[in-house]
Amino acid sequence: VERTLSLIKPDGVERNLIGQVLSFFEKGGLKIVAMKMLHLTKAQAEEFYIVHKERPFYQELTEYMASGPIVAIVLEGENAIAKCREIMGATDPAEAAEGTIRKTFALSKGENTVHGSDSPESAAREIAFFFSELEIC
Ligand code: ATP
Ligand code: MG
Repeated sequence: VERTLSLIKPDGVERNLIGQVLSFFEKGGLKIVAMKMLHLTKAQAEEFYIVHKERPFYQELTEYMASGPIVAIVLEGENAIAKCREIMGATDPAEAAEGTIRKTFALSKGENTVHGSDSPESAAREIAFFFSELEIC
């Protein structure tokens, strides 16, 4: 089985969507094997999104991700990385498929409610960023 890292971003926590977002993942067949709420500093958000440091939206993105509490979740299941991204939908809610988290809840391309790892390498790095092996069930 595969593991992936998902985040409920500040707009999701702020709008009381934690339970509903978790339901999308659970109904989609993914198992929650670790979870915590935290508030990233700007420096921590920059480190988490370091792969995007040359992108024009890097400052906006990292300021936003440090603007309020988030929920970090480890999801487990067959093809968890692809399945999580399918359940989330496209980055831009205007392009996201019906029935996805982002189509249902996202406000914009930036405030798009959730994050999901995009490869086995990024999943391993992102899970280790938030959790020790002891914290994962
Ligand atoms: P994520 O990595 O959050 O799961 P993603 O893989 O669909 O989303 P990326 O291209 O990795 O999208 O971008 C990371 C995040 O940066 C996006 O989720 C979004 O919040 C933000 N972002 C991406 N493109 C833009 C943009 N053009 N303007 C503002 N924010 C953006
Ligand atoms: Mg991404």
